[in-house]
Amino acid sequence: MNAPVVPETLKTIRIPNKVIIGGEAVSAASGKTFDCISPIDGTVLAQIPSCDAEDVDRAVKAARAVFEGGAWSMAAPRKRKAVLKKFIQLLQDNAEELAMLETLDVGKPIANSRAVDIPGSISCIEWYAEAVDKVYDELAPTGPKAVAMITREPLGIVGLVVPWNYPLLMAAWKLGPALAAGNSVILKPAEQSPLTAMRIGEIALEAGLPAGVLQVLTGFGETAGQALGRHMDVDMIAFTGSTEVGKYFLKYAGESNMKHVSLECGGKKPNVVFGDAIDLDVIAKQTAADVFYNSGQTCTAATRLIVQEDMHDALMEKIKALGDSWQPGNPLDEKTAMGPMVDKTQMERVLDYIDIGRNEGADIALGGKRVMEETGGVYIQPTVFDRVDNKMRIAQEEIFGPVLSTITFKDEDEAIRIANDSMYGLAAAVWTRDINKAHRLARAIKCGVVSVNDVDGGDITTPFGGYKQSGIGRDKSLHAYDKYTQLKTTWITLS
Ligand code: NAP
Ligand code: MG
Repeated sequence: MNAPVVPETLKTIRIPNKVIIGGEAVSAASGKTFDCISPIDGTVLAQIPSCDAEDVDRAVKAARAVFEGGAWSMAAPRKRKAVLKKFIQLLQDNAEELAMLETLDVGKPIANSRAVDIPGSISCIEWYAEAVDKVYDELAPTGPKAVAMITREPLGIVGLVVPWNYPLLMAAWKLGPALAAGNSVILKPAEQSPLTAMRIGEIALEAGLPAGVLQVLTGFGETAGQALGRHMDVDMIAFTGSTEVGKYFLKYAGESNMKHVSLECGGKKPNVVFGDAIDLDVIAKQTAADVFYNSGQTCTAATRLIVQEDMHDALMEKIKALGDSWQPGNPLDEKTAMGPMVDKTQMERVLDYIDIGRNEGADIALGGKRVMEETGGVYIQPTVFDRVDNKMRIAQEEIFGPVLSTITFKDEDEAIRIANDSMYGLAAAVWTRDINKAHRLARAIKCGVVSVNDVDGGDITTPFGGYKQSGIGRDKSLHAYDKYTQLKTTWITLS
């Protein structure tokens, strides 16, 4: 890997550096900016507007004006669908540029940006655009003396506050249903990953979304994020990020206007492998891929391998043998499977957890070190801890790095107890050839998604979200569409 790769790429790509407020690409009112740094080699890519309460207020006023004007909120669903289809077409036309921006910004392997993040984001928005003119409202089963209509209305102004690990995809899961339902949306990407959000804000204007319907504000959580969360005229916050910050949004809502808050927060996926599971090669491959993909910076990463004792040694050997295929490399190389961490802070956090695991007495079976330091980038080896006790911090806390903790169990009851011994409840996986056991586990595990004989099942048609402190509400599927609407009852008494 050579340092000049990023500057070479920069010659052909324009890095956005404006936010979208009221239909225009502008700077922050204060004129303040912050550096956008590539984790590939430390290059400063651009100066990004550092928006604060004043910019949030301008955006909310623009959002309110267009919402009350009805150009989007009251447009026929098929009209919104037509404009969204144009938006989707333009996103497709710009897919390669968006993929490159995502990779430069967060160090995600370009192969993943091209095959997963960007197409997944576009097809998500498309799914909701296609659904919007097929969702019917309801008539209640009243007696003959009344007609009661139950109709969905857009909520109003929705703030989307999203993380850096899948910057465009996490935004798309919310943009799709929120826009399709007729809301005015203000998107705040994480400070580490502003670029694709800024670019799609420009593309939305080109597609003909009315000014104020999709605005993009970059800046810090404590300023821009908090101002959105506390604004008296924002009707909803849809958040993806850490559990800690998710709780702030509940507080902001309670201390302001009781806005709706939906939260997709952290996870510590139990990946339960029984001794009767079918194909060890498949389990090893999927486990490694789930925990090392995106450098482990995934809320549903299978970070707790909970394996029955008699299966432990064989599975551990197979997972360790896969370590080579996950060694970090330059993410701009199409063949790289794992790139750097998103930034230096995250790398240090992960290295700290590796030390904590060692000090807690777990064995390092693979990796555990920073590598490629000479590049200026922030890379960590795929790391496997063995002989972990579920009480250890490395089994309880979200590390958000390529670090697997392996825990053994004796019987089904113990497997369930360990799987559920977590403050999180986002996703789980179970491997067994016994269908009875599979169903028992699926019922007993307190997670929003339980995959059986797959490490991470689900698609756009299935709801995604957490039990316990993994969140409130669901993304994906038509249940997410409902989240961005109000239900209104209109009762008409017939004389
Ligand atoms: P984060 O630190 O919680 O940040 C998420 C967003 O909240 C960012 O836009 C951030 O802005 C903003 N923010 C931070 N502090 C804030 C504050 N005091 N007030 C208002 N807004 C604030 O999360 P992250 O580090 O970006 O992402 C990693 C986390 O996301 C992990 O916990 C992961 O599990 C979770 N995640 C969950 C899902 C899911 O669907 N359940 C999916 C992906 C990620 P700045 O960063 O710009 O300050
Ligand atoms: Mg952050």
